[in-house]
Amino acid sequence: MIAAKTLKLSLKSLKDFAKKRLPDEVLRELDDKDECPQEIVRHMCSPDKLGIQLLFIPEEFGGMGGGTFDVYCICEEMARIDLGVATAVLATFLGSDPITVGATPEQKKLWLTRIAEEGMLFAYGATEPEAGSDLGALRTTAEPVIENGLTAGYRITGNKQWISNGGIADAYTILASTPSGPSWFVVEKGAKGFTHDEPEDKHGIRLSNTAALALDNVYVDADRLLGGVEGQGLNQAQAVFGYTRLMVAAFGLGGGWAALDRAIPYSTKRIQAGAPLSEKQGYTHKLIVSNVARLEAARSYIEETAERIDAGVEGSLNTEGAIAKYMATEAGNAAAEASIQALGGYGYTHEYMVEKISRDVRITTIYEGTSEIMEMTISRDRWQSHLKTRGQHYHERAREFEALHARHTNVGACTAALALHALAEVMEKARVARLTRHQHILLRLGELIAYAECAGSLSRRAALLAEGKLNEKANRRFDATALAAISRVFARDAALKVAEEGLRWVTGAGGINEAEIAGFETSLGLPAIHRAQAGLISDMDYIADVLYGRVAKSVEAAA
Ligand SMILES: Cc1cc2nc3c(=O)[nH]c(=O)nc-3n(C[C@H](O)[C@H](O)[C@H](O)COP(=O)(O)OP(=O)(O)OC[C@H]3O[C@@H](n4cnc5c(N)ncnc54)[C@H](O)[C@@H]3O)c2cc1C
Repeated sequence: MIAAKTLKLSLKSLKDFAKKRLPDEVLRELDDKDECPQEIVRHMCSPDKLGIQLLFIPEEFGGMGGGTFDVYCICEEMARIDLGVATAVLATFLGSDPITVGATPEQKKLWLTRIAEEGMLFAYGATEPEAGSDLGALRTTAEPVIENGLTAGYRITGNKQWISNGGIADAYTILASTPSGPSWFVVEKGAKGFTHDEPEDKHGIRLSNTAALALDNVYVDADRLLGGVEGQGLNQAQAVFGYTRLMVAAFGLGGGWAALDRAIPYSTKRIQAGAPLSEKQGYTHKLIVSNVARLEAARSYIEETAERIDAGVEGSLNTEGAIAKYMATEAGNAAAEASIQALGGYGYTHEYMVEKISRDVRITTIYEGTSEIMEMTISRDRWQSHLKTRGQHYHERAREFEALHARHTNVGACTAALALHALAEVMEKARVARLTRHQHILLRLGELIAYAECAGSLSRRAALLAEGKLNEKANRRFDATALAAISRVFARDAALKVAEEGLRWVTGAGGINEAEIAGFETSLGLPAIHRAQAGLISDMDYIADVLYGRVAKSVEAAA
């Protein structure tokens, strides 16, 4: 991990660079021309210039050894600038992940040092025309070339689709099937038989080069097989999902906030019906405040997960990465979409940028695992926790938040506990009636789980902020009073969603009959959840006042 001061300096250099080299008019022009600014991407990844890639490379290979939290902060900032450029930089992070996770010490030294010292750009080649969400359907093959009874190399043949940096990378990590299963290989540009297509004409992130790759009997030496053992590829890909999905989660967060940070000042200047839009509650609460609550709940989950990864918590935290990605990217999309609405007709034009941000952030719910795959990942894992604890998993989590509420009565922890208790009841009904045989129910449970866990996470972080115990690198856009109000708003939303949608899906799938509905409503705690909505509007009023600078920020936040 790097020092907080160093991180702050890196973030500042990034902001200054963007201000100078990527102002709105340049971004708009590149977006119109559908052009990847390769020179800018290389500048960002050059060790003697911005050197962003140094952050994620261990010190022993010439990097700065940044941790997950550092990378999240940088990813959010890059996304605020431009998600296409951010994707181009991320591709090197992703492309080098199979190396970081699975390579031999010699391979790590070779490739990670080259990325650090030469600013090499990587691409991550997993997806294929027939293998997207289901990477097991991979068709690219790597045939061993045997010499004197030993594997001297491989011949790789196949096609890759939608590869970020596909047309500009210096090296590619390519997933291909060996006789012992999927494995990662490093292929350098210019290898005989290796070509890429023209860049795709995309809906958004038009500053990112996305291209299909073709490998026609491309020969690589045996030392290009990462880890030196065949068949480890899917495990190596899985091992970093907790981490890589946090980066895309940070993209969703950055994109969503970039849009809101345009909508908020706009609404202070736009006068309609005799007053600025920022003073119209029907405008602020629908288009701004509710999106802020969703984004900050996702941020809390990202920050907690990043801290856990950095602390070396056991396991890959894949499910936590999936929850963070799912919540942050869906929230980012919703915020960008609402920002178009917030700018009215101007929002619909290119000039005001929210339209571009909205197109750009759209990708975050698709790449690095779609939202539906995230729902499935979350649901399957937490279903196991539910079964293993005989239905107590979320009741136990709920009790933790009841205890938190006893210490901090204003951070929404009691409402988060209601959400978690309701979730436990919904899952139990789904178990008894075997409802997860319906895939839709399984995936909807994934959504409810993500909401309930984020509600808990945000109340926990609001409490830490109030106690002055939040990690010094954590985002401090809001002070403790404001974050507590945001947490209360989100927890109310989450509890109502879990209980009402849970009831809906259980009933809709035939999990209970009419006579059982009233009893189930009670076990879900619906009356208490309805009562917990009291105070919602005044909390939203307060958050709007904070966002529009109508409340003096506390001294603590300013510090
Ligand atoms: C701009 C861009 C950049 C990208 N960059 C890279 C990159 O650098 N490297 C790389 O390897 N890949 C990259 N990708 C590929 C990306 O990761 C895939 O597009 C993504 O994983 C989805 O795969 P797919 O497009 O084949 O969609 P599919 O898997 O065909 O999915 C289509 C739809 O079906 C849903 N679905 C899929 N399976 C199921 C299921 N079992 N149950 C229910 N619903 C399901 C999905 O959620 C989605 O809504 C990129 C894609 C884009 C568009």
